[in-house]
Amino acid sequence: MRIDVVSIFPSYFDGLTLSLLGKARDSGILDLHVHDLRDWTHDRHRTVDDTPYGGGAGMVMKPEPWGLALDDLTAGLDTRPTIIFPSPAGELFRQSTARELAHREHLIFGCGRYEGIDERVFEYASTLGDVRLMSLGDYVLNGGEVAVMAMTEAIGRLIPGVVGNPESLVEESHEDGLLEYPSYTKPSTWREREVPPVLLSGNHGAIAAWRREQQIERTRQRRPDLLAE
Ligand code: SAM
Repeated sequence: MRIDVVSIFPSYFDGLTLSLLGKARDSGILDLHVHDLRDWTHDRHRTVDDTPYGGGAGMVMKPEPWGLALDDLTAGLDTRPTIIFPSPAGELFRQSTARELAHREHLIFGCGRYEGIDERVFEYASTLGDVRLMSLGDYVLNGGEVAVMAMTEAIGRLIPGVVGNPESLVEESHEDGLLEYPSYTKPSTWREREVPPVLLSGNHGAIAAWRREQQIERTRQRRPDLLAE
């Protein structure tokens, strides 16, 4: 998969050279390119923002650098990329979204800052690719970088070959609409706390049943909205 990220803070993405995604990049499974939006400005101050029409607080990202960035990143492509703009006003990014996007050939992420990006950019981007506005959750971040890091990791780990044992992906929270069961490792007693005896029983049927019960109970307590769905 190819991923292009456009941001005014490209060094945010240095962390994506680490761990499993770093290895995926080294092995060529993930072809990740991070671009500085200011490289598509032409004034001395490399300006990317201006005051909002109609007044109001804050600044808005200018359309011109975004237009040039999108033109360059989509020039000569055979297939339409998926162009994702993180936004607290977007659709909720969920595990099912990550699963869907993990099948795409090419993702382009555009990180907003300030009060966001001039609305016309989304309209223009939709002439070049399939546009999605994606929210990480019902809160407001300072910029799209953290959201893109989270989405890239959630999507990237679902690409075949990125996580060593694909079975570990199947049993995770949100994969079947429930939260994951609790996990334990050695020692079996730690600070007077015991591992649930069923996990030491060797009875795989009983263990599976216990884990399922735990998943349902946890989800009922912590995320009843998921059970309702
Ligand atoms: N004025 C915007 C609003 O109220 O919808 C918020 C702008 S926010 C300060 C700046 C940028 O951070 C956004 O353009 C977006 O890229 C990113 N951002 C903030 N919260 C986010 C969230 N919950 N999910 C995804 N991106 C977010």
